[in-house]
Amino acid sequence: MTPKRILVVGAGHVGLYAALRLSKKLSSREAEVIVVDPQPHMTYQPFLPEAAAGNISPRHSVVPLRRELRRCTVVAGAVTRIDHGSRTATVQPIIGPPRHIGYDHVVIAPGSVSRTLPIAGLHEHGIGFKTIGEAIYLRNHVLEQLDVAAATTDTEVRRRALTFVFVGGGYAGIEALAEMEDMARHALKYYPELKTSDMRWVLVEATQRVLPEVDRDMGAYTVQQLLKRDMDIRLGTRLESCVDGVVELSDGDSFSSDTIVWTAGVKPSPMLDATDFPREERRRVTCLPTLQVVDGDRVVEGAWSAGDCAAVPDLTKPPGEYCSPSAQHAVRQAQRMAENIVAVIRGREPVDYRHKHAGSVASLGLHKGVAQVYGVKMTGWPAWFMHRTYHMSRIPSINRKVRVLVDWTLAFFLKREVVALGQLHDPREEFAEASQPPAKV
Ligand SMILES: Cc1cc2nc3c(=O)[nH]c(=O)nc-3n(C[C@H](O)[C@H](O)[C@H](O)COP(=O)(O)OP(=O)(O)OC[C@H]3O[C@@H](n4cnc5c(N)ncnc54)[C@H](O)[C@@H]3O)c2cc1C
Repeated sequence: MTPKRILVVGAGHVGLYAALRLSKKLSSREAEVIVVDPQPHMTYQPFLPEAAAGNISPRHSVVPLRRELRRCTVVAGAVTRIDHGSRTATVQPIIGPPRHIGYDHVVIAPGSVSRTLPIAGLHEHGIGFKTIGEAIYLRNHVLEQLDVAAATTDTEVRRRALTFVFVGGGYAGIEALAEMEDMARHALKYYPELKTSDMRWVLVEATQRVLPEVDRDMGAYTVQQLLKRDMDIRLGTRLESCVDGVVELSDGDSFSSDTIVWTAGVKPSPMLDATDFPREERRRVTCLPTLQVVDGDRVVEGAWSAGDCAAVPDLTKPPGEYCSPSAQHAVRQAQRMAENIVAVIRGREPVDYRHKHAGSVASLGLHKGVAQVYGVKMTGWPAWFMHRTYHMSRIPSINRKVRVLVDWTLAFFLKREVVALGQLHDPREEFAEASQPPAKV
């Protein structure tokens, strides 16, 4: 028999796990697996806040694709178009002309991007918190703002530098805010010029609660903890404008800030617009519980999807409800999907994906956290410990687990690193200046 070609679009939580399982289960006579992603690594997003706070080396919160996917063909590039009618994907490699790759089965897993609103100044001054680059940038930027504030005698410049705004109170926003504040508070020990009360950490959340993934009382506990740390929590408030870094809120308040982090939700990858797959009103690919793409009541043969870009019915909830965009679902869906692709290739029936959302764990800084898992509620140190052990068990590969564990142990004994490496963002600046041709006289 001719081997089937399986094309995996995106090597994140879904793509990496699906490719791993497919390449383990299927022999080379049965299938070849091609994985396309513009990044050379999978990013374990739940570790981004800890990477930004310096508890984990950023390199250890990503998983190198070529090292893990040795039995797959890895293509460094972006899928720019899929014509499922002719079973062809167009790939733009990181260099060179576009390539066309034919396939028998496609796994659509490009995930999501930040869901923004047309707010004046946001495009110019905001930054998201979804990629390792954004996490590294934010860490360097926050530490640099401390240097700016310590170096200036201008109170307005200092106030602006030390005002940090996070928009959106889901787990990404809350963890990023709490971890960054914790890191900055620790760093201030080395800045005798600055006091903790000089810093202003603002959370802007449009609804009346944070962490919608856990019960209200746990959200309320989280707000109380952040308030105890003197953070400025604005519930029921929207960001109206941030032109030139002047933040204007819907409650009428206005102040300046050089740090505006947008963590107010996600939307499916815009790449899906260049495909012929059926989508629902939130623009996710419509799926059956088997993770097969479905158009009305017709299964789209050979097309599979899961994760943030897919609308997968949640069989543990009333009809009409879909699985939430979370790593918890993405990883399990990937494994179910891979098993189903193997089943279909071998002439068997696919099986429905069913997983009751276990709950959420969130870190609120070193030794602080909030967790609700299978109905059990935890706060403080136990919740934080739960957060670490859970994610340690989830990050792919023994290699990464060991590296993360070593990072945590080193940070425990030596304290975390609080130096800004802002030069990383413009490494050629010094050389360009040194190699400037002398001006003609
Ligand atoms: C800060 C943060 C913290 C989080 N914490 C938690 C948590 O504690 N618990 C939890 O359950 N969930 C958490 N999540 C959510 C979770 O990480 C996502 O739901 C999960 O990553 C979705 O998996 P995915 O495979 O759909 O997308 P991703 O993991 O984002 O992977 C998408 C991949 O597709 C690639 N790609 C994009 N476009 C293309 C293209 N055109 N061609 C080829 N490849 C492409 C990307 O480079 C990426 O590698 C968190 C998210 C963030 C941002």
